[in-house]
Amino acid sequence: MAEWCGRAVESGAKVLHVDVMDGHFVDNLTMGPDMVRALRAELPQVFLDVHLMVTNPERFVEPFAKAGADHITFHIEVAPPGELRALADAVRAMGKTAGIAINPPTPVDRLWPAADAFDLTLVMSVNPGRGGQAFIVETLEKTRAVRERYGTDMRVEMDGGIGPGNARLVRDSGCDVLVAGSSFFGQPPERWAGILESLQD
Ligand code: ZN
Repeated sequence: MAEWCGRAVESGAKVLHVDVMDGHFVDNLTMGPDMVRALRAELPQVFLDVHLMVTNPERFVEPFAKAGADHITFHIEVAPPGELRALADAVRAMGKTAGIAINPPTPVDRLWPAADAFDLTLVMSVNPGRGGQAFIVETLEKTRAVRERYGTDMRVEMDGGIGPGNARLVRDSGCDVLVAGSSFFGQPPERWAGILESLQD
């Protein structure tokens, strides 16, 4: 993994996005803090963006921060706004940036009581749980709404089904952090630099 991630960074990737699944908030189970610690040791300079698809982010924020995450995102669906804001403060107190993620079926209004406490909003463009799903085009409405409301005070990230074919659409809707999984790692490394160029424009 470190070798492939290192090659991704050499090819022009600006951030490594780590999808953490707890087998509860989503059915799947993926990497934990040990994997982040190992990546950090192998790639000391890379920005590690940890996306917690977990039911209890309060249990995981500190272990991932200590493991070397630079940024931690958790989901709007898992707690009331007051708790999410407090957790964002805790993340920032550890010297990290904080993000709030929203799933496709969740109405965008759910963000407003909490999102201003965060550095980044992650608009999920597929239902989380596995890679290789098709981009849900309606989610671009949410990206536009977040960008309109917060202007340049907020980073806006999208995750799921993004590749060279729709990157322009995603950027034009106000997204400035694009996550690519299958469209990137599913291709041979010789093509990675070209894929990143078209994603980043
Ligand atoms: Zn993610």
